[in-house]
Amino acid sequence: MLRSHYCSEVDENVYGRKIRIAGWVEDIRNLGGIAFIIIRDRTGRMQITSIKKENPEIFNELTSLTRESVVSASGTCQKNEKVMNGWELMPEKIHVFSKAETPLPMGIIDKVNVDFDTRLDNRIIDLRRDKVKAIFMIRHSFIGYATEFLRKNGFIEVHTPKISSAPSEGGTEVFKISYFDRDAYLVQSPQLYKQMLMASGLDKVYEIAWYFRAEEHDTSRHLNESTAIDMEMAFIEDEEDVMKIAECMTDYAVQKILDENSKEIEILNTEVDMPSLPYPRISYDEVVEILQKEIDFKWGDDLGTDEENLLAQKLDYEIYFIKSFPLEAKPFYAMPSGKYARAFDLEYKGIEIASGAQRIHEYDMLIKRMEEKGMNIENFSDYLKAFQYGMPPHGGYGYGIERFLMRLLNLRNIRECILFPRDRKRLRP
Ligand code: ATP
Ligand code: MG
Repeated sequence: MLRSHYCSEVDENVYGRKIRIAGWVEDIRNLGGIAFIIIRDRTGRMQITSIKKENPEIFNELTSLTRESVVSASGTCQKNEKVMNGWELMPEKIHVFSKAETPLPMGIIDKVNVDFDTRLDNRIIDLRRDKVKAIFMIRHSFIGYATEFLRKNGFIEVHTPKISSAPSEGGTEVFKISYFDRDAYLVQSPQLYKQMLMASGLDKVYEIAWYFRAEEHDTSRHLNESTAIDMEMAFIEDEEDVMKIAECMTDYAVQKILDENSKEIEILNTEVDMPSLPYPRISYDEVVEILQKEIDFKWGDDLGTDEENLLAQKLDYEIYFIKSFPLEAKPFYAMPSGKYARAFDLEYKGIEIASGAQRIHEYDMLIKRMEEKGMNIENFSDYLKAFQYGMPPHGGYGYGIERFLMRLLNLRNIRECILFPRDRKRLRP
């Protein structure tokens, strides 16, 4: 390898020894006879101290570098309490791998103010900034620990198709693509496939899924390409079994993030916490009662951004479930219970971060619901086949990864939580 240590791996055991470090040149201070070069790697920063009369060649090479060039340097790691980290590298050999052009399209150091579009246009440079990198380190932890929880609880990771012959959830929010001589669609979610898998005997599955949705509006909480933790489990009693997994998964992952990502949370300079389990459950009927005191809201109406915000203010809970929605407010596959659906949303700081339900497992009931919704049953023949030869009771959820992170880290725009966001205007980089 071109490095022996990340800068955070160097401690007193390494002082006095030869090491090789590598990274990006963040700053060069040339004082004439001595120069200080700050190198940044994934874990932090370190200083190279170059003394001209000891090695003029290295001194000249280091001081003529441009910022953000990529280098490695080997030499002695010298203890120095006056220097950041308490040590500096006295270079004996340096290697320049790539010289950065000047000027840079945007600054790296956090104090530099650049607008969001410039940041996204230069996302690779943007990602070199501590605050931006921290979000993706926490994203990495969230996915890792949430799936660790699911695996510990017997869930199997699966990968279902993203190209499909029919829209998965109906509606207009679908991207049509050309598939050889036919039309095809990008899936809006793995919903139909994960349900079909319940008939396979795999029993409990999860997927880190891509959602492709031609959302009508450009908002700070919608992406046209987003990711989710989707799960489906068989032999449930009712939707409560699914909700328990949703809340326990959240709690498990957040506790781990608090343990493992304290450095990143500090960099983001934000309050990260999570109420203890269980999360409150509020019925849709209770929601209606609360909203009707404030605004014009009819039983059966969908909860939009304004309603969700208002509700969060009135309830004074950070995170809670809304359950027992009107049947017609939920998709055809939600299990009916009178005029209600056995469906829930998980709300976090005033936005929906996950939706789930017990699903219909009886073929005849499913056909009836599809007819009531005016759906074209022929388009769903493969899905329906899974219900004709033995389908257990089941349920699951779709849990938006970017939505969760934006709320956990108190970020204003969902685009902060995905590397290369896709929205109505943005198809690059
Ligand atoms: P909303 O009504 O908030 O647009 P939805 O009810 O259409 O969301 P679901 O179909 O329930 O979304 O999807 C499950 C989860 O996936 C949502 O709770 C959300 O966290 C996430 N999600 C859905 N659509 C998007 C999107 N366009 N961008 C980002 N996340 C999304
Ligand atoms: Mg939903």
